[in-house]
Amino acid sequence: MILVMSFFFILSSCSSQSPLYISRKDGMSTVSFLAMDTILTISVDNQVADKKLKNTYDEIQKFENAYSAYITDSELYKVNHNLSEKTEISDDLYNQILISQKVSKMTDGAFDITVLPLIRLWGFSDGEYKVPALNEISETLKTVGYEKIHLDEQTVLLTQGSNIDLGAVAKGYIGQKIADELQKEGSDFGILSLGGNMQLYGNKADGSNWNIAIQDPLDESSIVGIISTTDCSVITSGSYQRYFIEENIVYHHILDPKTGYPADSGLISVTIVARDGAYADALSTGLFVTGLEKGIEIWKEYKDFEAVFITVNNEIYITEGLKGRFSSESESYLFEYIYK
Ligand code: ADP
Ligand code: MG
Repeated sequence: MILVMSFFFILSSCSSQSPLYISRKDGMSTVSFLAMDTILTISVDNQVADKKLKNTYDEIQKFENAYSAYITDSELYKVNHNLSEKTEISDDLYNQILISQKVSKMTDGAFDITVLPLIRLWGFSDGEYKVPALNEISETLKTVGYEKIHLDEQTVLLTQGSNIDLGAVAKGYIGQKIADELQKEGSDFGILSLGGNMQLYGNKADGSNWNIAIQDPLDESSIVGIISTTDCSVITSGSYQRYFIEENIVYHHILDPKTGYPADSGLISVTIVARDGAYADALSTGLFVTGLEKGIEIWKEYKDFEAVFITVNNEIYITEGLKGRFSSESESYLFEYIYK
């Protein structure tokens, strides 16, 4: 933590110079920087050339500049503002929309990247938070719906008024892409943290698995447990990550595309463990919206991910596949495994 904090200060004090400094410890090289609205830390075995490791910074900046809905010359911005005709899109944008559409179908629209107009309405786009009027919400809801995205052969067309926000899938997508590239460069093991989205491959230098802590949603300085794993992504969505309070009511940033309000599904955090980063990222947001019961149904149907659900009633539900890989010393929660 102290290391991350000191990076933060180095970055903010010399923003015009290259912010990249490689630290070396336990046979690993690490870079850490700010991008995509968060702190990113990438640690790899020493087989990766310093240049390649430093390149990850440029790559992520380029990615952000292309796929942020808020940067006015981004590729995504163009798509959002070209509503009369099809827009040709890059492979990365195509892939992100494709996986998003898949998770929308899996979750019956609980995951939906067309929530951007709602995100703006609530002020989560610029921090000017406000509780919208009922009629504003119902008007805005007319533009929301994943079926309003027409994706084909590398082009996309949005139904008039609809806008895409990749905030729930982009970090998982780029984390996976960079992890894949590092491995192609000959890296045997690595761990990437993109604002808490974890991407893992190989085993630590001592041969053991990576241990990923799951934060206690009720206490920033505590954890609820540890998942020991590798060759996958471990991604959490939680209502505690971004929110505002008005008249004692907490409004958080994961919205239910059916109601237009922050999802109120009885969950405060969902962690997904899956092979692919974009899939895990989208699913963690999606299952946060569906809630526990529907989330378990989806898990039973698809069988290609594991999950840790934390409810507002201090219960933690862990899917069967994490048995033996999840451990906890927390006494604040009731733990239960879910079986197929
Ligand atoms: P974070 O990126 O904050 O760690 P998430 O991956 O859960 O968390 O993404 C949350 C972001 O996704 C929101 O800030 C918003 O931009 C967008 N979003 C909110 N609700 C939904 C939803 N139901 N489906 C898809 N994207 C959403
Ligand atoms: Mg997500």
